Amino acid sequence: MSRLDSFIRRMTSQKILLEYLVDKVNEVDGPVLELGLGNGRTYDHLREIYPAKEIFVFDLAMNCHPSCAPDAEHMILGDIRDTLAFCGPRVGARASFAHIDIGSADPTNDLAIVDWLEPLVNERMAVGGYVLTALELHLSNFESLEKPEGIHQGRYHIYRKA
Ligand code: SAM
Repeated sequence: MSRLDSFIRRMTSQKILLEYLVDKVNEVDGPVLELGLGNGRTYDHLREIYPAKEIFVFDLAMNCHPSCAPDAEHMILGDIRDTLAFCGPRVGARASFAHIDIGSADPTNDLAIVDWLEPLVNERMAVGGYVLTALELHLSNFESLEKPEGIHQGRYHIYRKA
């Protein structure tokens, strides 16, 4: 499979999964967290599919397309390793959904990210809240959920806090 085909498949899966979770997430109170603004593509989609949810976005810097810029209150700048731990006073309630899009494409670096990320995600998620991520998390109080048909099994993971 060419890298173009692989990219298209990845983006298609991301969109299908984000939309697949909407009804489930809307049953849980709390804001949405977007970890990794990047170009702003998935943030732009999240605000379209969650018009009633507050969305807080995390990144080291704001480098997105100008049409996708979150307002200052909802853009949390800095290393997520620091900001996720201290965002409580600003974000308020624990999250109904976290979309984690900060993988490094290097498996060893991904393991290091997962090591600091897991406890922070656990702390910030509401009971019943959902996490969508390409990183494999091992949190004993989260269940791993089946993905809809057609999604490549290893690429994305859906977790729900029990
Ligand atoms: N979701 C984005 C989109 O659809 O355009 C793509 C996100 S991009 C793959 C990953 C982003 O995560 C980058 O903008 C990078 O700066 C950010 N990131 C990675 N690790 C981070 C960290 N530890 N703290 C803050 N931001 C981080």
